[in-house]
Amino acid sequence: DKLFSGFSKTRDNLAVIDELLLYWNLSDTDRVLDELEEALLVADFGPKITIKIVESLRDDIYAGNLKSGSEIKDALKKCVLDLVTKKGNKTELQLGFRKPAVIIIVGVNGGGKTTSLGKLAHRLKKEGAKVLMAAGDTFRAAASDQLEIWAERTGCEIVVAEKEKAKASSVLSQAVKRGKEGGFDVVLCDTSGRLHTNYSLMEELIACKKAVSKVVPGTPNEILLVLDGTTGLNMLPQAREFNEVVGITGLILTKLDGSARGGCVVSVVDELGIPVKFVGVGEGVEDLQPFDAETFVDAIVI
Ligand code: GDP
Repeated sequence: DKLFSGFSKTRDNLAVIDELLLYWNLSDTDRVLDELEEALLVADFGPKITIKIVESLRDDIYAGNLKSGSEIKDALKKCVLDLVTKKGNKTELQLGFRKPAVIIIVGVNGGGKTTSLGKLAHRLKKEGAKVLMAAGDTFRAAASDQLEIWAERTGCEIVVAEKEKAKASSVLSQAVKRGKEGGFDVVLCDTSGRLHTNYSLMEELIACKKAVSKVVPGTPNEILLVLDGTTGLNMLPQAREFNEVVGITGLILTKLDGSARGGCVVSVVDELGIPVKFVGVGEGVEDLQPFDAETFVDAIVI
């Protein structure tokens, strides 16, 4: 399965532990937990979560609650599962009843925004939705060409800027109008990803939000932040800033197929309290998987 193979690098990294646990006995405990700590840090679980996991296992082992390597492994899995299933976090898209639903995709350049939008369009179409794309990255000339390729690939209609240097908010507003008139179920909006330190991008995103809600009240239904999984914990400050300014409803973590740092999924959920809705595990149309905590845990800890 795609998700399982996508996480192979993270799993390989954690496999050290598997071997150690196979021959575990009580006198090995500290050495094994040191190795586990190291492996979790390398996989980007972050220091806070790593300590939480290791100390809770240590307590349970010394209290006599965990008596074998396989019991320790199950406890480790349960720990990770509890950390990624935050209460109240909805991992499914919340699209409401009013048509069209609007999803705005945000994130810095190169993270995988346009690709994820294309993959999401494919997924929604397969579920029977009529999907419209909006090329809201009016800053980078090549961006709308790239999205047009995805529109063709997935068989979706697309709204692009009519003139050069058009405002992103007016392209999105136009797209949502088209979505309303054309009986579309979902409008997927791309946005610019120039450096997040550039304040005008944040202003632009706020304007985009306002513009779509003017056309269909209650939208955008989702604002999904795309984060590059290979950057691991470095993605956190960026994610915080986007969240503070625009209010993120869900995350898409991309490139997890190329990363040994899959543990960042856990630290991101813990730090931000925002649900991961999808993970990107490749460049093809099918390579966007809905995030399911149990499958995730099974994919990273064998
Ligand atoms: P944007 O600038 O945020 O719109 O980023 P793009 O969508 O253009 O993606 C940047 C690069 O990352 C492209 O070469 C994509 O094919 C690649 N990419 C995006 N998502 C994934 C993923 O999940 N896995 C892998 N391996 N590559 C990805």
